[in-house]
Amino acid sequence: MGQNGGMQRYDAIVIGGGLVGSAIAYGLQRAGLDAALVDEGDVAFRASRGNFGLVWVQSKGLGAPHYQRWTRLSAEEWPKLAAELGERTGVAVGLEQPGGLQLCLGEGEFSERQATMEQMRAEAGNFGFEYRMLGRDELEETLPGLGAEVTGGSWTPYDGHVNSLYLLHALHRGFLARRGTYIPNRTIDYAGVAPNDFRLGSGADEVCAPKVVLAAGLGNAALAPLFGLCAPVRPQRGQILVTERTERTWPIPLGSLRQTLEGSIMLGSSEEEVGFDTGQKPEVMQAIAARAVRTFPWLAELQIVRAWAALRVMPPDGKPIYDESVRFSGAFTANCHSGVTLAGAHANVFAPMVAAGSLDPMMMPFSAKRFDVPAAA
Ligand SMILES: Cc1cc2nc3c(=O)[nH]c(=O)nc-3n(C[C@H](O)[C@H](O)[C@H](O)COP(=O)(O)OP(=O)(O)OC[C@H]3O[C@@H](n4cnc5c(N)ncnc54)[C@H](O)[C@@H]3O)c2cc1C
Repeated sequence: MGQNGGMQRYDAIVIGGGLVGSAIAYGLQRAGLDAALVDEGDVAFRASRGNFGLVWVQSKGLGAPHYQRWTRLSAEEWPKLAAELGERTGVAVGLEQPGGLQLCLGEGEFSERQATMEQMRAEAGNFGFEYRMLGRDELEETLPGLGAEVTGGSWTPYDGHVNSLYLLHALHRGFLARRGTYIPNRTIDYAGVAPNDFRLGSGADEVCAPKVVLAAGLGNAALAPLFGLCAPVRPQRGQILVTERTERTWPIPLGSLRQTLEGSIMLGSSEEEVGFDTGQKPEVMQAIAARAVRTFPWLAELQIVRAWAALRVMPPDGKPIYDESVRFSGAFTANCHSGVTLAGAHANVFAPMVAAGSLDPMMMPFSAKRFDVPAAA
């Protein structure tokens, strides 16, 4: 967009410079498109700057095998993406994929978890799903200092973690290095739409392109109808606590507990339905800390040095929404609550589909049409 108004033309415009939009914009630019990435600025609800950093597979897609496969595909794409970003930008995103463990407190949690993992395996069918339920005895060898209530946990080889702030930074740098155009501090508040012809406005400025990807997080709910699409996402608050650095190490991320490469331990994260309230609540922080200390009593010795709240971008059924407009071909949406985990798929699989002009049939179950339930008679 020109400084004093005017119109710039691109092959594609991505609205939203969080983790979802920047991964897609990076992938589009790599696919040879001249893309613009337009972002409202650091006034959003910080999902991309306030998350837990897991590349987490083991519980994604229960009852929805297409989502399980999509998450697994993303985890497989992750090493390529991390290596490429490192080479292109010099930013090491700190990806580690040693597998992951979800720890259980009490027999009830253990048997519930076992049933969940068995359902995941059954639903994977020929695709396969490797998991093990590990008893407390096995865990004690690798995780000394376990609390008395820990009964065991579920393990899969697919999980990992990353520094998600470095990821966001690397995606932006990689996009710029591939000569993408980043347009910050612009809120798209006007859209002139026709099939494969989109004019998007912010004040006096306009950008136009034959393709547009709506990746504006919670902003997609208002934007999507302008393009004949639907993205009924809602905010869900999550709070996270971070300890001082410690030498004690875990070889593997533990679901709601993970140790960063620098040595801090992250404790998280709540799931609260409080609308757009980004406040921190002492009782929620206490509950997060209490569960962590029940799991590893030695954590009580560490100081909490940081804590924050951020809003997840949550579809009604918790599964991602990817769609393309029937009325206005060339317009796409992308929303999910696991934008770190899915970055590999967004950059390496979703973006090439957009570049090619339409979504692969494998994406059909992710369409928001699934929410069009006929009213009961
Ligand atoms: C507490 C917490 C823990 C999490 N932990 C994990 C985890 O461990 N692993 C994982 O995979 N995921 C995790 N997530 C989820 C992950 O952070 C999100 O899925 C991801 O950040 C969503 O990215 P986004 O780009 O869709 O949204 P956002 O980060 O909200 O970005 C959307 C962008 O769009 C811009 N925008 C909005 N409207 C407009 C407009 N009209 N015009 C221009 N720009 C606009 C905004 O400014 C914003 O920058 C967590 C989230 C939270 C809150």
